[in-house]
Amino acid sequence: MDTARIRKGFPILARKLNGKKMTYLDNAATTQKPRQVIKAEREFYEKRNANVHRGLNALSREATELYELAHENAARFINAGGIEEIVFTKNATESLNLLAYSLGENIRTGDEILLTKMEHHANIVPWQELAKRKKATVKYADITEDGRLDIEDLNGKISPRTRIVSVTMASNILGTINDVEKISALAHEAGAKCVVDAAQAVPHTKVDVERIRCDFLAFSAHKMLGPTGLGILYGKSELLEEMPPFLTGGDMISTVTLEGAEWNKIPWKFEAGTPNIAGAAGFSAAIGYLEKTGMENIETHENKLLKAGLKRMAEIKGVEIYGPEKGPRTGIIPFNVDGVHPHDVSEVLDGNGVIIRAGNHCAQPLMREIGVEGIARASFYLYNNTEEIERLASSVEEAKKTFGV
Ligand code: PMP
Repeated sequence: MDTARIRKGFPILARKLNGKKMTYLDNAATTQKPRQVIKAEREFYEKRNANVHRGLNALSREATELYELAHENAARFINAGGIEEIVFTKNATESLNLLAYSLGENIRTGDEILLTKMEHHANIVPWQELAKRKKATVKYADITEDGRLDIEDLNGKISPRTRIVSVTMASNILGTINDVEKISALAHEAGAKCVVDAAQAVPHTKVDVERIRCDFLAFSAHKMLGPTGLGILYGKSELLEEMPPFLTGGDMISTVTLEGAEWNKIPWKFEAGTPNIAGAAGFSAAIGYLEKTGMENIETHENKLLKAGLKRMAEIKGVEIYGPEKGPRTGIIPFNVDGVHPHDVSEVLDGNGVIIRAGNHCAQPLMREIGVEGIARASFYLYNNTEEIERLASSVEEAKKTFGV
């Protein structure tokens, strides 16, 4: 991967931070945007701005085509059956909430929802709230000492009352990649639906919903070079057809009388109100960029950075690194420095222009499971390079000196 060339295409990467070269290693939180994405959004507003699915005029038709094309691009990117299986939401969080309300309608007293102990809050709280509304139970599959999902435990926790199994494909803290194909098969054997939170997977590896055979899959455009404010929910068309809408109002109806309404066809049944049209234009550009670069190349590059990063960080005395020693993981280095709070580590790094994330990363149950209050996390993407790993490591060494450990 020619990162020097790639970096020139991301304007923000040229900026300085606290007088130092900016080293952006917080890609699990959000990714930077290439010129193509910025240009696509600007061009939409400069040349094509109109509302979609309404005006019988050329401008609205153009905007509608562009908006629907973004659904087509998303469908191709994850190998979905077609645009009827792609719902645009605000973010992965909203995609999961949509499911907890709409799919959740069928949940009855005593039913079970199975999650894991490595979920992001976005894949915990909506299900807990659903369980409260329906007097259902939420169960959690264990993780192993080294941060892998205990699949035997998960299998053992599936019961005849399990209706939904919702798991992350890649942990936002540990980087652990879960065998969602297997989990999906186990869920289906028990007659449960399988939901995959792929917010940390789709940007980093080839995700194929046909191969996974999951029923639903959620992710966010902003973590894959695209704009904020646009999330995606993939759902099998026959299931989306049966499900009631989540939000109601304009655009999601076919007819409305004073007595009631009939729903539009999928996916529009789930897209009430004016959507993020400019965001959709940017998202198409992001998908185009990733396809051109090649997901295999991105994965290989991140693996190289991960290996080099883990090795370099392990050389620093007093640095503890979390996550699986064996098995697949994404380009995330979760770590702590003995005797220094992760927030303090992050502050010293910030002074050197190195941006990481420190805290509980919206996964407090996982933090408790690992037995720490917080973790510092460096996460890579296609534009990162080994020079930045060195800047990370030397800044961590500096933090140790600053705090006298
Ligand atoms: N799931 C995982 C695994 C995540 O890492 C995140 C974002 N940190 C989300 C869900 C939620 O994504 P968003 O904030 O874009 O809704």
